[in-house]
Amino acid sequence: MDLFERLKQDCHEQVVFFRDLQAGLRAIVVIHNTTLGPAMGGVKMSGYGCEDEAIEDALKLSKILTYKAACAGLNFGGGHTVVIGDPKTDKSEALFRSLGRFIDGLGGRYIAAEGVGTTVEDMDYIRMETAHVAGIPSSKGGSGDPSPLCVFGVLRGLEACQVFLTGSDSLEGVKIAIQGAGRVGSRLAAALTAKGAAVTIADVDAEAIGRVTSKHPVKVVETEEIYDVDCDIFSPCALGGVINDDTIGRLKCKVVAGSANNQLAEERNGDELDRRGILYAPDYIINSGGLINVAEEIHGYDSERARRKTAGIRDVLLTILQAARDNRIPTYKAADRFAEDRIERIARIRRS
Ligand code: NAD
Repeated sequence: MDLFERLKQDCHEQVVFFRDLQAGLRAIVVIHNTTLGPAMGGVKMSGYGCEDEAIEDALKLSKILTYKAACAGLNFGGGHTVVIGDPKTDKSEALFRSLGRFIDGLGGRYIAAEGVGTTVEDMDYIRMETAHVAGIPSSKGGSGDPSPLCVFGVLRGLEACQVFLTGSDSLEGVKIAIQGAGRVGSRLAAALTAKGAAVTIADVDAEAIGRVTSKHPVKVVETEEIYDVDCDIFSPCALGGVINDDTIGRLKCKVVAGSANNQLAEERNGDELDRRGILYAPDYIINSGGLINVAEEIHGYDSERARRKTAGIRDVLLTILQAARDNRIPTYKAADRFAEDRIERIARIRRS
């Protein structure tokens, strides 16, 4: 990878590599943009195939965080950490405290938070070495697990899509196919069935599925079949890149709206959804509840305020869907413009 060329492509500010042999740490922090404030974003732990794959993931995620914070009205920029390792076997107190020491050295340009493969307990270890971390356990005064608020935001987003298409925000009787029964997918299934929606769900983990089916009236399909489900809304809540050249033709939904980051494998897949008349709720808008939750912690966590701000996802999404319709552009482009406009407006204030 020609790293400087790649940084130029999406205007990234900084890439930092950390290595601590003793603690078994190999980590990359990417800061995308700090116009609105210090970069904030998750710590993801994953066993990447190669270093380039890890770098590319961090580059993409950090950019999304810039756009997510901008659209959510937060005064934070975008950054992300990837830790190379298996979250099931390679975690240790030393690893996260070592990462915390390195993050401290960035002097507050980046604030870490929980991400895929990490937990609030891991953030607690990072906190032992630096103040530049959010998402510590609620028992210690932090904002805790962001998933409940992420789900609340996704629900507001689903309502926005329904209002936009049908004029009613009711989810009763709406057929929804959820991919993933993890922290978000399972709670979403519970909330949606309580609202009278007809939920179909799939997960590679049979135990995760069991935890949902034991409590809620959902239909289960095989992992690969979730794309073929006849539904109103397809809700990706597991992985990125699931809207791609192979899956788009199989979708029978009117809306794609879920919590997963980077749902579009390529931008052209967003163009294709638009061409097929499938409404796409841009991922970094609808899933911003988790970020709003941790961002609240910086100035003293208030769960009611976090909830109020997250409820605003509905109006932001409606504004973006309307802008896409008015300007005849795909929704992902309308969301990018919304974010870039805010960043540019604030940058201009600083220059004047
Ligand atoms: P999670 O790890 O708790 O759950 C993910 C689930 O997806 C797991 O149960 C896993 O077995 C399942 N899965 C993996 N591959 C699958 C496949 N091919 N088909 C079906 N299921 C599969 O993660 P989560 O916290 O529920 O988050 C879900 C998604 O939402 C992730 O992409 C995450 O980045 C994103 N997200 C989460 C939050 C949050 O607050 N939790 C916030 C923003 C974005």
